[in-house]
Amino acid sequence: MENFDADVIIVGGGLVGSALALALKETSLSILLIEGRQPALEWPKDSWDQRIYAISRASRKMLQRIGAWQRMDASRLQATSAMKIFGDTYGTVLQFDALEAGVDELAFMLENRELQKALWQGLKDCSQINIFSPASPVKLTTDQTGATLLLADGQQLRARLVVGADGANSWVRNQLAIEPQVMPYQQFGVVANFEIETPHLGVAHQWFMSDSILAWLPLAGNRMSMVWSCNEEKRAELMALSPDELCEYVAAAGGARLGRLQLMTAAAAFPLRLNHLPETVRDKVVLIGDAAHTVHPLAGQGVNLGFGDVIELAALLANTPVHQIGDYLLLRRYERARREAVYTMQGVCHGLQKLFNNTNPLLKTLRNLGLGATHQLPWLKRQLIRHAMDA
Ligand SMILES: Cc1cc2nc3c(=O)[nH]c(=O)nc-3n(C[C@H](O)[C@H](O)[C@H](O)COP(=O)(O)OP(=O)(O)OC[C@H]3O[C@@H](n4cnc5c(N)ncnc54)[C@H](O)[C@@H]3O)c2cc1C
Repeated sequence: MENFDADVIIVGGGLVGSALALALKETSLSILLIEGRQPALEWPKDSWDQRIYAISRASRKMLQRIGAWQRMDASRLQATSAMKIFGDTYGTVLQFDALEAGVDELAFMLENRELQKALWQGLKDCSQINIFSPASPVKLTTDQTGATLLLADGQQLRARLVVGADGANSWVRNQLAIEPQVMPYQQFGVVANFEIETPHLGVAHQWFMSDSILAWLPLAGNRMSMVWSCNEEKRAELMALSPDELCEYVAAAGGARLGRLQLMTAAAAFPLRLNHLPETVRDKVVLIGDAAHTVHPLAGQGVNLGFGDVIELAALLANTPVHQIGDYLLLRRYERARREAVYTMQGVCHGLQKLFNNTNPLLKTLRNLGLGATHQLPWLKRQLIRHAMDA
């Protein structure tokens, strides 16, 4: 019998990799997690993270099941009860309501670091999971029975399956020589958090403008998070503003719907791109999360797609005899199961981005007619809400 250091090695302990490790604790599999950088687990109480996520209902259920949801500070979570989407002609609006869809909320808004901390606390309490951090792999090889990972410090680790959960610039993916088809949008996501004057009542706002997409997402208390997807010119303009100027500019862009704004966290800009992979599995290796796909943040679904990978892969591994967990044919089943959800989300976000980032007057009329018409069709809205919540 061959000796393995673990059944599964997960490279990358971000939100997706650490969620998978915790989801597998319900199985008898032994797990080894390799993370390049320990996440920060302490910060001043009154500070807020720049990175805010909209967590879908399906993701929340999974996080509850693995015990991470319960570890988060409930006073920093915000339920979204409605979403108002505005087109780029006056009066075009599409509204989604939780009540109308027969659910308590459309999504939960939370801070990246709160969730990361809850996941890492769970990992540290679990004897079945061994964490190597800080640690970085330098070589990955596979053979008939398993995969071998060589770390920078010379340690050699062997497992039946290696999971690449190491983000959009995945090292594991590079080792497999899988080339993503990258579609750079020549766009950036500019994010910042604000204190607001008028309560948001749990409503998220999104404006599809002719040159950009602006989102205001409700945060716990009288606070909101902004994600402004825009071109280089606007990114430079926004980033050059002083805090007071930025507040005035952002408030005016949203028609002062939340009154005067006060900056809580400095603005930061991230380049946006779509990563599409021709394959996400090889014999003994599988990619999940941003290592396997990225999407435009306009639908706030990036991490939810990754959590969808976790749900599918954990269920498959739990129902497979341990000696088969790295088998290519089994991993292909996982790949096929995720393909539709990933392609659909990438297609919808990409299509909307293209549709609104276009100055053609005919397209402008059509897109605004489309928003208005969708608003008049409650059954279509219910379908869209259910799809986004259960993604
Ligand atoms: C502006 C912006 C806004 C967004 N807003 C939303 C939103 O509202 N909702 C949403 O769902 N998603 C959103 N996303 C997407 C979301 O951030 C990602 O989908 C999510 O973080 C992916 O998680 P991950 O664990 O797969 O990857 P990552 O978060 O990138 O984690 C990868 C981990 O692997 C580690 N690592 C990397 N390389 C190595 C290596 N060689 N060895 C060891 N460890 C390694 C890293 O240190 C890191 O901890 C947004 C993205 C952007 C850019």
